[in-house]
Amino acid sequence: MRVLATQRLPGPAWDELGDVEIGTLDERHDGAEALVAPGRRIDDAVLDLLPALRLVANYGVGYEQVDVAACRARGVEVTNTPGVLDATTADLAFALLLAARRRLVEGDDLVRAGRWDTGWWQPPFLGREVSGSTLGIVGLGRIGRAVARRARGFDMRVLYHQRTRLDDPGPEYRSLDDLLRESDVVSIHAPLTPATKGLISRERLALLRDGATLVNTARGPLVDEDALVEELVAGRISAGLDVFVHEPAVPEALCGLANVVLTPHIGSGTVETRAAMTRVVVDNLLAAERGEPLLTPVLSTTTRAR
Ligand code: NAP
Repeated sequence: MRVLATQRLPGPAWDELGDVEIGTLDERHDGAEALVAPGRRIDDAVLDLLPALRLVANYGVGYEQVDVAACRARGVEVTNTPGVLDATTADLAFALLLAARRRLVEGDDLVRAGRWDTGWWQPPFLGREVSGSTLGIVGLGRIGRAVARRARGFDMRVLYHQRTRLDDPGPEYRSLDDLLRESDVVSIHAPLTPATKGLISRERLALLRDGATLVNTARGPLVDEDALVEELVAGRISAGLDVFVHEPAVPEALCGLANVVLTPHIGSGTVETRAAMTRVVVDNLLAAERGEPLLTPVLSTTTRAR
């Protein structure tokens, strides 16, 4: 099976592929049967350039940049990489939570700049409590559950919101508005879909408690970014953000703020996890080549971001 890839993926599994062309999506590739194009929008314009395509193997669990309906209409399958990045992404959510609540980056900057000139007993360098606080999880799926498990180790009370109410003795269900009102920390783990775009609206951000922390390792457009910037500039809340609306651009106003910790979309960004994601991509490609069932086909056509 001839694979067109816009880049080599990390990890040893990639070398198991026999017929790979590293190329761009700016020109026609008549022979390409499978496509690996991280971060690229795959729509009719791209599909027109790939007449022999049978499979889009998405590098990542979120696949909103792939027009799944357009692929299906041409008989092109789509796969993603669920499961192998849950722990790593949950770890980053927790790192952002801890960093924002305990002012880690701000403290590090202070020390490095030689501006540490007070005793430990003197204010104002106080953070906000993590242990024993209330965590609200928006989207208790694979990653959301991994965050909930970590929260138990911090004696946190865990609330969740999603469309499906679970028969789970652990996290307590709340409407989204109630979750925002009751939580000290809100962590977002829902996919970007037409239904979740702008889910955390200006009005909903206003429901957060003074001193609350918003963590977003899902997708930027789930939150009204302009309203979030305004809340952060006002200093009413803090945030840990791994994702943004116009990546890699980040609202300039955020860069000067001490109450937000910013990372460059590295939720799944460890050597081990990126290699594991490559393994899933390659296994799907090899399965397609052998005519076997795909390992992780994307089932829904409804999650396309508009
Ligand atoms: P998942 O297992 O499918 O979980 C998503 C959860 O979101 C589900 O429990 C779902 O429950 C909930 N949800 C869906 N639509 C919703 C809505 N309209 N309102 C409220 N909740 C909704 O997905 P996952 O594997 O945990 O991944 C979640 C997302 O994380 C991915 O889609 C991706 O965008 C993001 N991600 C980011 C990084 C990064 O590098 N920062 C890394 C990995 C993943 P219901 O269907 O019951 O609503």
